[in-house]
Amino acid sequence: SENRVFNFAAGPATLPEKVILQAQADLFDYKGCGMSIMEMSHRGKEFDGVIKKAESDLRKLLGISDDYAVMFLQGGATTQFAAVPLNVCNPEDTVDYIVTGSWGDKAYKEGQKYCKANLAWSGKSEKYTNIQSFDSIKQTPNAKYLHICANETIHGVEFKDYPTPADEDTILVADMSSNFCSKPVDVSKFGIIYAGAQKNVGPSGVTIVIARKDLLGASQPITPVMLDYKTQADSNSLYNTPPCFAIYICGLVFEDLLEQGGLVEIEKKNIEKAGILYDAIDNSGGFYVCPVEKSVRSLMNVPFTLSKPELEKTFIEEASKEGMVQLKGHRSVGGMRASIYNAMPLAGVQKLVGFMNNFQKTYA
Ligand code: PMP
Repeated sequence: SENRVFNFAAGPATLPEKVILQAQADLFDYKGCGMSIMEMSHRGKEFDGVIKKAESDLRKLLGISDDYAVMFLQGGATTQFAAVPLNVCNPEDTVDYIVTGSWGDKAYKEGQKYCKANLAWSGKSEKYTNIQSFDSIKQTPNAKYLHICANETIHGVEFKDYPTPADEDTILVADMSSNFCSKPVDVSKFGIIYAGAQKNVGPSGVTIVIARKDLLGASQPITPVMLDYKTQADSNSLYNTPPCFAIYICGLVFEDLLEQGGLVEIEKKNIEKAGILYDAIDNSGGFYVCPVEKSVRSLMNVPFTLSKPELEKTFIEEASKEGMVQLKGHRSVGGMRASIYNAMPLAGVQKLVGFMNNFQKTYA
């Protein structure tokens, strides 16, 4: 609508207008209860309906089988950096991390506290612009798990397929925070998938964990109860007070994604949006540059720099005047970053590309 900007933030990020308007309507009086979801008991029948529907819609979207538990937790994806090793490893177990950006690096560093974390490969020396071919990544035999960050939000590097773990028993673990529900995923390849909601599927405050049930119940004795998957799964994420409102918003987003035709359709839209943006960068004759190797460019986060870095401030200011905001790159890499999650409409990307072309004509 007229008052809404095109918000290219990396997270918390833009949500579907439809969801925001529904939440606004429900806020005063949720389905005739005379109160909002955030004011009622998490053990009442209304919230029970909300969390069950959210879970079953998510199961439909990703095709999650009954072999997996779905949990709605707190603490952000950062908490999962510790929860994963605490739940599935002993301190003497070795695990592998493939590090393709800052988030994977943080996960690796946190993992070192709870088991023997090994760096199987890191893209750091190449400034996180590529992913090594899987065959040449040396995994540890019998590693307990292999951890990847499926989409690096800051560097814009995304796995297009997934490495096969060293052994049959090695679990593939993925941080999918910034590409969760942006495309179909074969969940059965993974032991654990986790994702903070605040990019593609909701507000901050809820973290979704999908874990194979046979992995639960083997946590380290020091595991805080809140981080114990078995406890959380057995109580259907209601061991304590969950982030009710955030879960409710995720539920609205899942409904919307199903109405749009599910993740096959969503992926098509995301490919189209990312395609026109990367084309604009690549066809700018070097005025705009995306450092990421083409085969692993993210559909969600598009980092780019200007050949004349002194123009960056002007670029961001002028874009903002035209209603396109939050385009500044992460402080650690500079430049620009356009996050174009599911809820970013095609019109937003088209407008950005039009702006980029005009900006180039004016300042090249
Ligand atoms: N992993 C990835 C890929 C992320 O993008 C982020 C947040 N930007 C995190 C982990 C950390 O998430 P949280 O802030 O929810 O702890």
